[in-house]
Amino acid sequence: MKDDVMPTDKEAGLKTGEPKAAAGGTPAVLSTFKHAIDQMGVVRGTKALLKVNQQDGFDCPGCAWPDPKHRSMVEFCENGAKAVADEATTRRVSPSFFAQHSIEDLLGQTDHWLNKQGRITHPMIVREGGTHYEPISWDDAFAHLADTLNGLDSPNEAIFYTSGRTSNEAAFMYQLFVREYGTNNLPDCSNMCHESSGVGLSEVIGIGKGTVLLEDFDKADVIFVIGQNPGTNHPRMLTALQSAKRNGAKIVSINPLRETGLVGFVHPQEVVNTALGKATPIADVFLQVRVGGDQALLKAIMKVMLEDDSFVDTDFVSDFTEGYEAFRENLDSFELADLIEQSGCAEEDIRAAAKIAREAKAMIACWAMGITQHKNGVANVQEVVNFLLLGGHMGREGAGACPVRGHSNVQGDRTVGIVERPKEAFLKALDDHFGINAPREHGYDTVHAIKAMHDGDAKVFFGMGGNFLSATPDTDYTAEALRNCDLTVHVSTKLNRAHLVHGKSALIFPCLGRTEIDIQNGPQFVTVENSMGIVHASKGHKKPASEHLLSEPRIVARMARATMPDSPVDWEGMAGSYDKARDAIAACVAGFEDYNDKVRSPNGFELPNGPRYRRFTTPSGKAHFTAHDVPENPLKDGELIMMTMRSHDQYNTTIYGLDDRYRGVYNGRRVVLMNPTDIKEQGLKEGQNVDLVSHYDGQERRAPNFTVVPYDIPTRCIGTYFPEANVLIPVDSYADRSNTPTSKFVIVTVAPE
Ligand code: SF4
Repeated sequence: MKDDVMPTDKEAGLKTGEPKAAAGGTPAVLSTFKHAIDQMGVVRGTKALLKVNQQDGFDCPGCAWPDPKHRSMVEFCENGAKAVADEATTRRVSPSFFAQHSIEDLLGQTDHWLNKQGRITHPMIVREGGTHYEPISWDDAFAHLADTLNGLDSPNEAIFYTSGRTSNEAAFMYQLFVREYGTNNLPDCSNMCHESSGVGLSEVIGIGKGTVLLEDFDKADVIFVIGQNPGTNHPRMLTALQSAKRNGAKIVSINPLRETGLVGFVHPQEVVNTALGKATPIADVFLQVRVGGDQALLKAIMKVMLEDDSFVDTDFVSDFTEGYEAFRENLDSFELADLIEQSGCAEEDIRAAAKIAREAKAMIACWAMGITQHKNGVANVQEVVNFLLLGGHMGREGAGACPVRGHSNVQGDRTVGIVERPKEAFLKALDDHFGINAPREHGYDTVHAIKAMHDGDAKVFFGMGGNFLSATPDTDYTAEALRNCDLTVHVSTKLNRAHLVHGKSALIFPCLGRTEIDIQNGPQFVTVENSMGIVHASKGHKKPASEHLLSEPRIVARMARATMPDSPVDWEGMAGSYDKARDAIAACVAGFEDYNDKVRSPNGFELPNGPRYRRFTTPSGKAHFTAHDVPENPLKDGELIMMTMRSHDQYNTTIYGLDDRYRGVYNGRRVVLMNPTDIKEQGLKEGQNVDLVSHYDGQERRAPNFTVVPYDIPTRCIGTYFPEANVLIPVDSYADRSNTPTSKFVIVTVAPE
């Protein structure tokens, strides 16, 4: 790891303890208050938190878990409160801050420190050869960007990245600008997370989204939670799981770790239970699968279920699916013992889980990165669908697929056109509606955008939100790619490492946040789409952090007009009144008819989702069983499989604090969670400082100064946090067909200090 990208010093003061037995409760309440008061103050904080996820409020800038139709007064979780406090902080990063801190100086700071500095107040530029960011007027900033874009040999030399916090209106205008400018280079953060879900589901059920609604959790009698840690990444999901448990549901966790949120949950709004620390046990069975063993495990469970196949919903299978025979033949070709061995789980537990699934009347399968960020990520997702189709658990109440999105509007961005492989029908709609000639050549996704910048094929990087450097794999390689650019631009609310690893020149466009009042031709609201395909409004209530901020739609309109002065598109109209942007979306994207009326209803509206009602939108009109091989994953002596994770004090690459309370890790992030047997076999000891080295295609990558922490994780598997461990993930190591980086499966060895 190059030290001119990210500090890798040995951490002092790390403490470890036992993982927590339950999520939520008093510690969550105290943590919420601490972050709210520390960042926003009591009064400001209380006002903000009483508006988050409310019908007349703003959408939580955290994950994409849906809001219940009947909101409680406190409709947020601990990590939602952290996300709000993080954006609505009173701290400011002004031009004088940048004058005091050179870029080299800032590079030596941790991501936690950078984030804590506050909201950026002015547009900033670092000129070629410059050592500091300096203020620039918006006019000059847009002129610099336009000159650079218009100076390129081809629009395909520019990359336009999107982070999942961007609203529907801004995302739609952004893709329109990019396409009118002449490229489909629209990588987005979904490429790194649920792309395998999108590709896998689209093929087998006809839509790249989940099929369940929040209400289905109360109608399910079985819920599988696969490769997901809801306690930290989607905490309000614990409310739905607790409610399902109280309705008698059975829950099975498939995860290398026994995550606290799936062990027990104390609902912080239940005062007595919180006072008593009385938790609801969540999962009935824990299958601590070997990293990369999910497909083998799912096949093992299905083989056991089919030892008595009377549970198979034969009517559903014959009327609504195809490929069942090939699926059964494929499954029969595997030995149960081999699958059990590859899964790393005990046969007894597999049989317990199979019994629960076989007896299910209505089953939901939820999942996240634990199955998508693998070379066989798409096959993992399709194996889950096989598992659901067997019992007809698709397209009816209480049953279906539930990939849980990690970013508040990542699904919405994709729906309104943020995709490098757009469909012809959408491009034609844009051409017809706006009188442009959208390009048909597919663009770069995230992995290929990095390679294009690294190879000099792309010379401009534009980031609509996000922290591209820290979110992406192969940190040193990505840093070289960004530094290879003529210009890098970031639309941001706060300071992050991507601002510091920049092109020959760089711009920062500070924008309004989700919590802030947005006045254009009068007050405006934006819209977002949650994990379950519900589109709803979000309206900010706080005074903007600075008078110099622009809204994302306004930024797009101004850069479009600066870059294409004669554009026929009414950029100013859409930036002035978001109703106009929504009318345009309604004209170009299926399912948004009467958008402005529908989205003004208190709970917004549901986008079309045929499979939710057993109208499978595949070419054949049927859901597909699939027949995949199972990867071997052989390891040489001393090799281990690393999976990267979030801590509880982190949201994507935003580091709120240095504790991971639920896992018993405090005041440190450069840790490697390792099974005690492996620690012994590797000749290591608890607390020892080590380097991690990844091995891929004859290449080695090194990440120094990690502390060994004994943990309940399957043997030959280790856990680390990102972005610290992203340097170990090879840019060429990505999932088949979805190109999702294999952040959950990296072969490494441990090098003692
Ligand atoms: S569950 Fe997700 S969306 Fe809901 S408050 Fe928490 S972080 Fe925000």
